[in-house]
Amino acid sequence: MEKTLILLKPCTVQRGLIGEVIHRFERKGLRIKGLKMMQLDEAILNEHYAHLADRPFFQWVKNAMMATPVVAMCVEGTDAVEVVRSITGATNGRKAAPGTIRGDYAMSGQENIVHASDSPENAAIELRRFFKEEEIFDYPYPMRDFFYSPDGI
Ligand code: ADP
Repeated sequence: MEKTLILLKPCTVQRGLIGEVIHRFERKGLRIKGLKMMQLDEAILNEHYAHLADRPFFQWVKNAMMATPVVAMCVEGTDAVEVVRSITGATNGRKAAPGTIRGDYAMSGQENIVHASDSPENAAIELRRFFKEEEIFDYPYPMRDFFYSPDGI
């Protein structure tokens, strides 16, 4: 099964939405395989947001991501990257569809509640960036047959 990275941004931590946002992913059926709070710094954000380095808002985004600790999550499921991105919604909260996390909780293009990896390749890179191997847990899944067919569909 596929794993992906989710970061609950400082706006989510400050607004007291950690539990509510995690609940959305959990009740969908995504399994939490890693979960921790961490304070980000310039070095990790320069890597993580390297694709934004030329944008005028680059430093604002980094400052926003360092304002408080974030909550980092590794979740797992069939097609987890695509499922998490679709639950997350469009980047700009004002344009994100109602029912998505950003559509329901955000008014901003910057303060948009969560980061979610955008491809399986990036998910693998980002999980390595934010988690040590021993911080991702494998544990029994007794309810699996009530979430998936035998081939994981
Ligand atoms: P996404 O998080 O949806 O994958 P991007 O990778 O394009 O989007 O951007 C990363 C983050 O940078 C966004 O989640 C958001 O916090 C911030 N960002 C993107 N575009 C803007 C913008 N125009 N103004 C301010 N912040 C932005």
